[in-house]
Amino acid sequence: MSSISEVYYGSTIPGTTARFANMSEKLDRIIEYLDFSSIKKGEKVAVKMHLGFSDGYQTVPVFFVRRVVDAIKKHGAYPFITDNPTAVYNAVYRGYTQETCGCPIIPIAGIKDGYVTTKSTDIEGVTSLDAAGVLLDADALVNLTHSKGHGSCGYGGAFKNIALGGYSGPTRWVTIHGIVYRDKYFDQTKMTKEHLQKLRDSCPRKAPMWNDRKNMAELQFYECDQCHGGTQFCVEADGGLTNWTIHHENFDAFQELMAAAAKIILDSFDKSKVFHLNFLLDITPFCDCMGTAMPIVIDDIGILGSKDIVAIDKASLDLIAIQGINENAIRKIPESYMRVNSDLKANLHPLQIIHGPLKDPYKVVRFGEARGLGSSKYTLVEVLSPEETSTTEQPKIQYEPGPTFF
Ligand code: SF4
Repeated sequence: MSSISEVYYGSTIPGTTARFANMSEKLDRIIEYLDFSSIKKGEKVAVKMHLGFSDGYQTVPVFFVRRVVDAIKKHGAYPFITDNPTAVYNAVYRGYTQETCGCPIIPIAGIKDGYVTTKSTDIEGVTSLDAAGVLLDADALVNLTHSKGHGSCGYGGAFKNIALGGYSGPTRWVTIHGIVYRDKYFDQTKMTKEHLQKLRDSCPRKAPMWNDRKNMAELQFYECDQCHGGTQFCVEADGGLTNWTIHHENFDAFQELMAAAAKIILDSFDKSKVFHLNFLLDITPFCDCMGTAMPIVIDDIGILGSKDIVAIDKASLDLIAIQGINENAIRKIPESYMRVNSDLKANLHPLQIIHGPLKDPYKVVRFGEARGLGSSKYTLVEVLSPEETSTTEQPKIQYEPGPTFF
């Protein structure tokens, strides 16, 4: 698709202290532009979120979720929030309940994660994926995403939210994450446990490991930062014995499958009833699945909305590139937690500076565009910009004189 898509953007920077310049107002304005009127009375609307895990509270604030839910209800529709069963069952600990969100929270593939529809794929090595049944039952989709880093591909955004989050656990963890092993990167017949241990000892991330279940060596691609383009210690330690290689094919396969998996979900909906919202707030280095508090590696940017999944993730990545990494936080993070590129000004996307050059976050956007899911060309339409609100007439009363209980 070569058309130019619109991406609506509300920055965290206000032009005035008045409430009309607040993020809540910006979200409301973005929703107005997205135009939920295609959602009809009585329809069931899935609000696909990542509700986090355990103690990982850095997800989309319930404050904004409630506003999105209320905006859907204005059309007489029935929204429900959905995510994997574990995240749903313990969502209450992170503040998400029916009372706070304003709608039910339902496990995406049923209470036992087994309510699925099997879909075929054209991806080599992957015959089928089990798409989440509750999600597919919906008439409309709001893809409500927390944009952040991701160990497998550098970036977790709108694609990732439905490509991994839209499937049952085994599809997500075994099939989609497992695609990284499809392309051969060493000769298993020449590998021994002892030799693998040598590789593991050489790696600062301890990424090469012996998989006892499969009784074979494996690289944990999620952990590997490719030595940030420098000497790859594991390759050096291998000394050519097993032809151990760190190349882009393994990393790319994950992103290509993500694009294909997202397309399967999106194709299940009427195009006019799909909306994407990316929250570029609390941008952590890793996925919300981590279940822990994480350092903020990119300062808050704002909220984006679009009808085009390609455009919204491209715009999100471009804004992250403009923002750059949060050097103050990054410099304090020890290598035991995360090893970033020693050159924080390297000519790479900030998420590659964090996760390594082969985890190019734009790849999923390119794969998605090639599959006709949208356009990487976009117009950024800023709502209630600081320039606009700073010159808007201020309301006379800004503070309540006494309790109003509203
Ligand atoms: S490239 Fe570097 S980080 Fe990756 S497995 Fe090899 S030694 Fe470890």
